[in-house]
Amino acid sequence: MNLRSDAYIDGQWRTAAHRFDVINPATQDVIARVPDLGAAETEEAVAAADRALPAWATKTAKERAVILRAWYDLMIAEIDRLARLITLEGGKPLAEARGEALYGASFVEWFAEEAKRAYGRTIPTTTATRRYVTIKQPVGVCAAITPWNFPMAMITRKAGPALAAGCSIVLKPPSQTPLTALALAELAERAGVPAGVFNVVTTHSHTSAIGKVLCESPLVRKFSFTGSTDVGKRLGSACVGSTVKRVSLELGGNAPLIVFADADIDKAVKGAIASKFRNAGQTCVCANRILVEDSIYDAFSKKLADAVSKLKVGDGKAEGVEIGPLIDAHAIAKVEQMVAEAIGAGAVALTGGKKHAAGAQFYAPTVLANVTREMRVNREEIFGPVAPLIRFKTEDEAIAIANDTEFGLAGYFFSQDVNRCWRVAERLDYGMVSINDGIFSNEVIPFGGMKESGLGREGGVEGLEEYLETKFVNFGGF
Ligand code: NAP
Repeated sequence: MNLRSDAYIDGQWRTAAHRFDVINPATQDVIARVPDLGAAETEEAVAAADRALPAWATKTAKERAVILRAWYDLMIAEIDRLARLITLEGGKPLAEARGEALYGASFVEWFAEEAKRAYGRTIPTTTATRRYVTIKQPVGVCAAITPWNFPMAMITRKAGPALAAGCSIVLKPPSQTPLTALALAELAERAGVPAGVFNVVTTHSHTSAIGKVLCESPLVRKFSFTGSTDVGKRLGSACVGSTVKRVSLELGGNAPLIVFADADIDKAVKGAIASKFRNAGQTCVCANRILVEDSIYDAFSKKLADAVSKLKVGDGKAEGVEIGPLIDAHAIAKVEQMVAEAIGAGAVALTGGKKHAAGAQFYAPTVLANVTREMRVNREEIFGPVAPLIRFKTEDEAIAIANDTEFGLAGYFFSQDVNRCWRVAERLDYGMVSINDGIFSNEVIPFGGMKESGLGREGGVEGLEEYLETKFVNFGGF
C-alpha cells in the first residue's frame, strides 16, 4: 500500500494546484500535502457516483459481496500499515489504531454478508383480487462526512453498508485525517470497486461549500454525517429543507458511567479507564462523567487516581504508550479551560490537571474529585483525558443526573445486582447501555443515539436498512 495524497474521483487520482498540510499531532510535523478541493470537484464526484449507480445497483448482492470481501481482505493484509497511518495522522496509540483498523474492516465484511439477506415481505392481502409484497432497493447516491477521531472506522461504517446495499458514495473525510480515507480508496480500487462507486473529495478551506453540495444536490438521495451536534443539526436541516433526502446523524455524547456501591470496584476502575481514556478521551462514547455512590466514593476515587497516574503518555508510535496527543491546539485549549473552570469552582485534581511534558498537544490523564452538576465538565463533552467524579446517594439521584442532558448516545454502569441491572438499563435515556463493561462497540450491534446524539443506527442489521428503500408493490386485477 502506497501513501496516497491525491483525492479519488470517478476512479481517477486527482491532484490540485492548492493543497493543504496534514500534520502529525504528536510532533506537529507535516506528513503530506493533500488537494484542497471545492464545490466544483464535489459536483463532479456526485455526477460520477450517479453514472456509476445503475450498474452497481443491478449487480446481485452476491456479486457485490465478492468485491467487498476482496476490499476487506486487502484491509486485513495491510492492517499494520493502516494502523501506522491512523496513528501518524490521528495520534492514537498504535495498539488502539490496530484495533480501529480491524474494527473498521469488520463493517465491510459484515455488510457484504448482510446485504445477501435484504429480504422484503409478502403481506397477507385484504382483498381477494390483490397480492402485496415489499422489496428492498438501494437508496441511490449517498454522501458521507466523517470526523477525525476514527479516521477509518467512521468511513467503513457508512461506505460498507452503502456499497453492500447497491449505493454509490461520495465521501468528504476530515481535514485532519484524510490519508486513511485515501488509503481505503486505493484498496477499493485494487479490490475492483468500479470507478465512481467510491469517491473521496478532500478539502481544508472549502468544507462548507462541499457540505452545501452534498446536502442540496438532487442527485444525492442519502446523507450520513458523524461529527459534532451543532454541525450535524445544520447539515441535517439543509438536507431536509432542500431535497428531503434520507439523513443519518451520529453526533456528540455526554456519557455517564455510574458506579453503584454493589459494584466490583476493581472491575469498575478498569472499565472506567477503558471507556474514559481510549483515544485520550476523544471518542463520542467515552465516559464523559463518572457518578459514584457516596459509600464507595473515597475508595473508588483513590483506586482510579492511582491507576490513571500510571498511564503512559507519549507519541502513539512508541511501545507501550496508552495516551497519545490531542488532535490540535484548539482541543488542548478547550480541555485546559474546562479543567481550570472546574478547579476554580471547587473541584480537586487527584492526578493530572495540567498539560503533559510529552509535547505541545499532550494533556496529563486527570481525575477530578468534588465535581458538581453545574460544572461544564458534567454538562459538555470534554473530548480529553479528564475524568470528573460526581457523588450521588440513591439510584434515583444517579439516574436523574445521568439523564439530565440533551445527549443520549452511550451510558455505562457497574453493579452486581441483577434486578438493578435490568431496571437501570431501562431507565437510562441512551441509545446504547453497557453494564459492567467499558468497551462494547463492534460491527454486529446497532450503534447510535437518542435525543440530540443523532438519528439512525450504524452496524448490525439496522445499519443496512439506512441504505435501503422499502418499496411496496401491489399486484392487482387477479
Ligand atoms: P465536526 O467539527 O462536526 O467535524 C466533523 C466533520 O464535519 C469533519 O469532516 C468536518 O470537516 C465536517 N464539517 C464541519 N463543519 C462543516 C460544515 N459546515 N459543512 C460540512 N462539513 C462540515 O466534529 P469533530 O470535532 O471532527 O468530531 C468530533 C465530534 O464527533 C464529537 O462531538 C463526537 O462526539 C462526534 N462523534 C460522534 C460519533 C457517533 O457515532 N455518534 C462518532 C465519532 C465522533 P473539516 O475537517 O473539513 O472541518
